[in-house]
Amino acid sequence: MQVREGSYYIQNQKVTDLAAQFGTPLYVYDGEKIVQQIQQLQQAFVGIDLKIKYACKALTSISVLKLMRKHGVELDVVSPQELQIGLRAGYSGSQINFTPSGVDFEEIEFAVENGAFVNLDNLDVLEKFGQKYGSSKPCMIRIKPNVAAGGNAKIMTAHEGSKFGIDIRQQAEILALVEKYDLKIVGLHQHTGSDVKEASAFIEAASRIFEFAMAFPDLQCIDLGGGFKVAYKEGDYTTDMESFGKELSGFFQQFCERYGRKLQLWFEPGKYLVSECGYLLVRANVVKQAPGRTFVGVDSGLNHLIRPMMYDAYHHIVNASNPDASVQETYDVVGYICETDNFALGRPLSKVTAGDILVLLNAGAYGFAMSSQYNSRFRPAEVLILNGEAHLIRQRETMDDILRNQVEIDV
Ligand code: PLP
Repeated sequence: MQVREGSYYIQNQKVTDLAAQFGTPLYVYDGEKIVQQIQQLQQAFVGIDLKIKYACKALTSISVLKLMRKHGVELDVVSPQELQIGLRAGYSGSQINFTPSGVDFEEIEFAVENGAFVNLDNLDVLEKFGQKYGSSKPCMIRIKPNVAAGGNAKIMTAHEGSKFGIDIRQQAEILALVEKYDLKIVGLHQHTGSDVKEASAFIEAASRIFEFAMAFPDLQCIDLGGGFKVAYKEGDYTTDMESFGKELSGFFQQFCERYGRKLQLWFEPGKYLVSECGYLLVRANVVKQAPGRTFVGVDSGLNHLIRPMMYDAYHHIVNASNPDASVQETYDVVGYICETDNFALGRPLSKVTAGDILVLLNAGAYGFAMSSQYNSRFRPAEVLILNGEAHLIRQRETMDDILRNQVEIDV
């Protein structure tokens, strides 16, 4: 988003015009930014066979998935429903990786029947997979390397206490099942967590997986998950993709030499690809003065963007109706949900008047995807800007959506 001639723009679209045309609250995604992030990632890894599997849980809109596909990005899904959205977006099953957590075996069967690769994440499911498919279907295993990293405890997934994956210390049990059922393990997977600050954590997890991999002769890929860090506020640490890519590429090449064959390296980024492309446009309903503070109540809340309340996440906010930032006042920006529902406390903004359009930045990942109908409110519409044109890619919900599955009985 840039300021030009005193107005905020996303590509060539004036933010306040988007709000007027599509209404608020509104999610807007900048397609150019998504493509930029894809290319940055593709270019960062040198001399290795890299595959990017977009972790589509971050933002599951079909049109975004189509854009990913157009630019050579495949998919990582965590539910049969995400898998079906991927198929709808034109992916073949073999381009989709299913990485579930503790699901019923039926979900695994569904994925296999649709040609997807499955990351098996516990010994029971490995046994069931062996009983049903033996060596007839290739599979992957999710390993927990016991590396603690991630923006906060809720989004760490590879530490010892984490529910995810099979503990790396259980290699003997895994190998026994592989032998018993002649399993064809074609990939090993690990996902460290989200918002991982230290590149060294990825390297540490990778080195453990590489060591572990030497006992699996049929591998085609190593999948190191997602978790790359983007900046939510100025000065935030981010994953320096160029230097990380170089370091890891070299490390991976050494591993391949030791392994005896060239393998593919997979990553499953979510945030890195779609966080910064996303903006949540909201309207100030009220500006309420109280002793010592001023609240701005907006037409949205934790039902549309839960990250501030769920993870104490920071989202930068600007007042698109008053881009002159030279005079700032301090506001508590709060949602309309009937519980404590803060987007930001004590935040300096250019003067806000009821009716102004505020923009929450970095809202593409885990924004709409984690939204709900709490308080029986409609989820926002979504717009994707491609080549300067704003396309509605999801309609705002209506009362029919709220009532759709309710079954009314006479009482
Ligand atoms: N892969 C797996 C298995 C995940 O669980 C997640 C996020 O929860 C991701 C990839 C994407 O993480 P991020 O959005 O931080 O890149």
